[in-house]
Parts: sequence; C-alpha cells; structure tokens
Amino acid sequence: MTDCLFCQIARLEIQASIVSQDADFIAFRDLNPQAPTHILVIPRKHVATLNEATDVALLGKLLVKLRDVARAEGLSDRGYRVVINTNAEAGQSVFHLHAHLLGGRAMSWPPG
Ligand code: 5GP
Ligand code: ZN
Repeated sequence: MTDCLFCQIARLEIQASIVSQDADFIAFRDLNPQAPTHILVIPRKHVATLNEATDVALLGKLLVKLRDVARAEGLSDRGYRVVINTNAEAGQSVFHLHAHLLGGRAMSWPPG
C-alpha cells in the first residue's frame, strides 16, 4: 500500500510529530487533536481495519504500546481513553489500522 497515508508516515516520507517508534509500531501526534494529548499508534505493517487484523500477537503488543505511551505522557493515573474506529459508522477515515490514545481532560460517556 505505497499510497496509504499512514504507511507513508511509518516510512517517514510524510512528516509527523513522532512520539515513539520501534520495530512494530510508530506513535505520532494527531494532526487534529481532540484532547490535550491525542496520539495515534499504528503498526508499521499495513492492515486496513481491525476486521482484517489476524496477527494476535501484534494486537496484544499494540495494547502494551498504548499503555506505555500513556505512561510516558503522564496519563496512567489520571486516565486515558483508547479508541479504534472501524469502518463507516464508527467514522474511520484512514484505512490503516490505528488506535487513538486520548487524555488530558475529562471524557464523557457514551461517546458521540
Ligand atoms: P479515524 O477517523 O480514521 O479514526 O482517525 C484518523 C485520524 O488521523 C484523525 O484523527 C485525523 O485527525 C488524523 N490524521 C489524518 N491525516 C493526518 C496526517 O497527515 N497526520 C497526522 N498526524 N494525523 C492525521
Ligand atoms: Zn497503510
């Protein structure tokens, strides 16, 4: 998927404010933040949506990565939210699997 926006960010071909990266994931700040801290964590490997994700180990590591980024951002104790929008009704707009890490303000429930 050479023309995928998030693949291009993962290959460092498009600039992003990168928070952390390792062999499997890259975490960067959302261009249009919905909270004081709004970070996207994506696998380097292209997967369109959660529906297509078959690598169970990678999905587990994604949660650990989100937890670790939240800790590094100082959100562990006060709280944070992890969101994976999947397909149309959830409002997914970029079809490369990504988890939103949101924090730094009180969140309401249910989500919009
Ligand atoms: P989705 O709506 O698919 O769950 O989330 C896509 C997210 O990607 C949105 O929150 C949007 O602001 C963010 N986004 C879209 N294009 C870019 C970009 O070029 N750079 C960054 N850093 N974020 C982007
Ligand atoms: Zn991609």
